[in-house]
Amino acid sequence: MEKTVKLVVALLAFFAVSLDAQKITRYQLEQDRLIVEFESALNVGDINDFIIKASRNEPFRRVIDIKAAFADKPFIDSKTASAGVKIAQFNAETARIVLSRDDKFDVAISVSEKNLTIDFAPNKIALFDGYKPSVVIDAGHGGRDTGAIGLNKIKEKDVALKVAALTAKILRDRGFEVKMTRENDNYVALQNRTTLANGLKADIFVSIHANACPPPSKLEGVETYFLSPAKSDRAKEVAALENSVVVDNMEKYSKEAFLNFLNREMVVNSNKLAIDIQRSLLFSARRKHAKTIDGGVREGPFWVLTGAQMPAALVEIGYITHKDEMKRLLDPSYQRLIAEGIALGVESYFINNWRR
Ligand SMILES: [Zn+2]
Repeated sequence: MEKTVKLVVALLAFFAVSLDAQKITRYQLEQDRLIVEFESALNVGDINDFIIKASRNEPFRRVIDIKAAFADKPFIDSKTASAGVKIAQFNAETARIVLSRDDKFDVAISVSEKNLTIDFAPNKIALFDGYKPSVVIDAGHGGRDTGAIGLNKIKEKDVALKVAALTAKILRDRGFEVKMTRENDNYVALQNRTTLANGLKADIFVSIHANACPPPSKLEGVETYFLSPAKSDRAKEVAALENSVVVDNMEKYSKEAFLNFLNREMVVNSNKLAIDIQRSLLFSARRKHAKTIDGGVREGPFWVLTGAQMPAALVEIGYITHKDEMKRLLDPSYQRLIAEGIALGVESYFINNWRR
C-alpha cells in the first residue's frame, strides 16, 4: 500500500504551468463535495475521469484530470467524512484530483458554466434552503403513439421510457420529489402531461425524447429545446415531428393562444434550464462517447411544453435513426449516463437559481 501511495504522491509533483491554459481560480472542499471554479467557461472535453484499479489492501481511487492550471500552487492532501482528497498540478496542462476510499464508491460530476462540482456521496439528499424541489419527468409518447421509429424498428417511446425512468430514479435518490407522466407503455394525451405538472405545482417539467431523421441523413447528437415560437427551420422540423403524433383536443390550442402562453420570465427560466441540462447531458454522454455531437440549446414550438406553468425543457437524447447512436441508446450503461446527465443538469439549475 505504502508504495502505491508514494507513487501517486510522486505523480502529483508540480510542473511548470503554461500561461494560456484554462485557469482554476478557486476550489472549495466541503464535507462531501468539491467545487472547482474556472476562469472561463468549461469545455467538457477537457475533463477526464478514471479509476485506478485497487489491488488488495489498497484504497479505491477515482481520478479526475482537468486540462487547466491552478492560479496559485495548490496541494491539498485532506480527508473529509466521505473520502480522502488530493489536489495538485499534475503536469503543465493538467490539474489532478484524486479521491480515495476503502470501499468502491461512485462520484457525481456535474458542470455548470464555470464550475465543476464533484459529489463524493452522490446519493445524499439535496435540499435547497430546506426545500425539496419537485420535478415532473415526462417519457415522450407511449401506447398507440410510438413516436419516431428508428433503425431495426426501434420505437422512440421505449427508449424515452427507459431513460426517463432512470432519470426519475437518480433524482429521487438525490432527494427530489419526482413524478412521471407515465411509468409504463401507456398512451397519455399531450395536454395531460403538463396538466399533471401544473396540478402538482411542480418546479420543473422535463420531457424526454429521441430524435429521428431517416437516411440518407446521418444526423446524430443531443439537443435540448425550450418552448418558443419556431426560429430555425431545423427547430421547426423537430417540433413538427414531435407535434405530429396523436393530438387530442388540440383545437383549443390555437396558434395565437399558444403564443399567449409564453410569459417572458418563464421563457428565460426555461432557457436557463435547457442550458444546464444540455451542458450536463453532453458532459455525461462524452464520458462514454467522446465525439457526441452537441446539437445545442434550441427554441421550438413543442405542443407538449405548452401550458406548463413552470420552467420546462424537452430533451432529444440522440438519433435512433443513426446507426451508432441508436446502438448506444440501447446500451444500459449509456442510458444511465444520459439519465445522470439530465438529472445533474436539473440539479445544476436548482443550484444556480435557488441558492443565491
Ligand atoms: Zn418524441
